[in-house]
Amino acid sequence: MQKSLAAALTLVTVACSQPPDVKAPSTPARATHAAPAPLQATDPLAELLGAQPEATRFPLLPAAEPASPRACLEASTSLGSAGLYRTDPWSKGEVVLTFDDGPHPTATPRVLDQLAAHELPATFFVVGRAINRDTYRLVQRVVDEGHTLGSHSYSHDVNMTKVGAPEATVETIVGQHAVTAMLIDISLVATSGDDFDDMFEQVFERDPAAWLPAHKIRDSFETYAARHRDLLDARGYDDDQRPYDVLYSRPPGGGPYVQTDGAAGRALYDQALRRLNMMNVMWHGASGDTVPDKRSDFAFLTSNMEKYSKSGGVLLVHDYMRSDALAHALADMAEGGVKVVPLADAAVRKVACPAPGNALPSALAGLPFASSTGG
Ligand SMILES: [Zn+2]
Repeated sequence: MQKSLAAALTLVTVACSQPPDVKAPSTPARATHAAPAPLQATDPLAELLGAQPEATRFPLLPAAEPASPRACLEASTSLGSAGLYRTDPWSKGEVVLTFDDGPHPTATPRVLDQLAAHELPATFFVVGRAINRDTYRLVQRVVDEGHTLGSHSYSHDVNMTKVGAPEATVETIVGQHAVTAMLIDISLVATSGDDFDDMFEQVFERDPAAWLPAHKIRDSFETYAARHRDLLDARGYDDDQRPYDVLYSRPPGGGPYVQTDGAAGRALYDQALRRLNMMNVMWHGASGDTVPDKRSDFAFLTSNMEKYSKSGGVLLVHDYMRSDALAHALADMAEGGVKVVPLADAAVRKVACPAPGNALPSALAGLPFASSTGG
């Protein structure tokens, strides 16, 4: 995933709005992630053809290759500037749930418990520097429970596109998301806190108890990537395989897509996304849990959640949202006819890629007789 490069400059790290550190989680130990399950495993023809004997199937049909969001995105011409934005049209009452700024030792388990209670899918945009020996199991838990992981950068610097010279800015953004994706991988293969720390030291050559400085990430992420590759090879991930394919990212604070630094900042960010092969995910509505003086206001939080659930779209929440308000909002969605869909569904729709269940027409279009007749 990481392409080439190197450059220089200094990055100002802005304190993010994560809650104060609390005690380590008590999530149970779990088995190592051997190899990732494919994102989509549905045979698009199975339902139509499954009951028929082998000989009656279309002989020319290629082996069914299920459409994955990444395959769809990379087949589209818009990858890199492809993303989900506030201006996207959306079906009323259909929501993608996203949680930012985790993993957090106590807040993230509560969110996961509440999602499980209502069987709702969500995406967690994790901050690289929040992933450590005390939280890596939560990264595992997110995947185990069927949710999606995305990168919310390593340092949570909301001014990433204001670093300086254009090339250095792009390097900064690429490094931030690339390192977070590495930490996701390390989390998923770690068998213990000590194992996590050993891998961290091996890849980053720094004390795992300290954060990586942003300027080191910008200058060294390719070196990290090479060591990360060696690590994965040693753990049995051959042929450029990784434990997790991080496809989605979200800029801290919305970055240049929200701030007023205009088209120049967005162009640099888009350039970084193309290098990363990641899709940008913004939001249509938010819980309001970052609004000063209102973040603990139960009525404010729940009314926002209700309003934006009804209007539909990507909904921005933070792991640390007031827990009883989140519970109330999720119960309302589950019982109130709001359709909560996985991010992948919205992503493939945005780039007009056939969803796995609709893959038959495109599969037939690829057949020789179909193309020779101009169909
Ligand atoms: Zn954030």
